Amino acid sequence: MGLNSIEVKRQNKILVYRYLLEKGKAVKPTIAGDLKLSLPTVRQITGELVEQGLAYEAGPQDSYGGRRAMEIAVVPDYRYAAGIDITKNHIDFALVNLRGEILVNKRYKKGFEDSKAYWKELKQMHETFLKEQEIESERIYGLGISLPGIISKDQKSLEYSHIFQLKKPMDFAGRISGYPYEICFFNDAEAGCMAECYTHQAPDEFVFLSLSNTVGGAIVHDGQISKGKNNRSGELGHICIVPEGRLCYCGKKGHYDPYGSALLLSELAGGSMKDFFSGLKQGNEQYQERFEEYLRALALMIYNLHISTDLPVVLGGYAGSYLNEYLPKIRALLKEKEIFDDEECYISTSRYNVEGAAVGSARYFSEQFILRLS
Ligand SMILES: [Zn+2]
Repeated sequence: MGLNSIEVKRQNKILVYRYLLEKGKAVKPTIAGDLKLSLPTVRQITGELVEQGLAYEAGPQDSYGGRRAMEIAVVPDYRYAAGIDITKNHIDFALVNLRGEILVNKRYKKGFEDSKAYWKELKQMHETFLKEQEIESERIYGLGISLPGIISKDQKSLEYSHIFQLKKPMDFAGRISGYPYEICFFNDAEAGCMAECYTHQAPDEFVFLSLSNTVGGAIVHDGQISKGKNNRSGELGHICIVPEGRLCYCGKKGHYDPYGSALLLSELAGGSMKDFFSGLKQGNEQYQERFEEYLRALALMIYNLHISTDLPVVLGGYAGSYLNEYLPKIRALLKEKEIFDDEECYISTSRYNVEGAAVGSARYFSEQFILRLS
């Protein structure tokens, strides 16, 4: 068999596996019909999947064309993928199965400090988290870790992080060691965007605006996050929207971050975004005033992103997921700015909120498991 036909066979296997992950179970003739593969091909592939423990024969389907066809069911818990999002004040843990379903995610209050004790405790907390789920580390396929800053191209260090006030790049070697599985690092906004990318029916091209305590983002083309020449693409919080305006945490003035940070909203409600939005609905005037101002800056930002990319804009991060019911209001603000007179709606909100980055980091590995299938 030539290299090419081996790869074609592997791609067909991935296709069938994805189909089963999505449907849960199916009979072979249906798989063959839906995927336009021959029945012998599907038979061979499902046989291999069963042999590998990735699927099993679930018993005969009751009434398939008068014959009792065997249903093949997928084993979504064959492996798990783990994610950790490290923020300035919290650590989020997430665990997903091979379908990308969130089994559990938990947030702990813990301030970041770059010390031996911190990294040691992080590892212990992660181990405890897995133990609570009764999952042995052998069943973890990989661990994705997201951080608020720029990850170096070789994935070996955190190059910049204003939030963590790094004076020089922080090497991961030594800090993250002794984990018994593969680890990958991501920028937090990029990780939030990945959670979005890997869901079914995700658009192929979009801009992800991450409205968390800091603002970030990512630009997706062909289902892939474009990284830019220096891995710095999508630093949307540092787009200047008010020349000489408010001071950004990066030290420059007028950037979007001090107008778009989720903290602007949650700080009024003792740090709780949920309380902010319930107070807003109850008519708290201070909240309303702050929110109006927040939406005006957001609309300007969305306009800038859309006019420069011609792509749909997905609002994510802590604030993003709460904005769904305010989309008509944001649209009305955008209408005043737009130069093209089309009715097409190009804004939507993310399905994830606070846990997005940890989930996205984990989903990277559930996706890798599928892509590396042989
Ligand atoms: Zn800035």
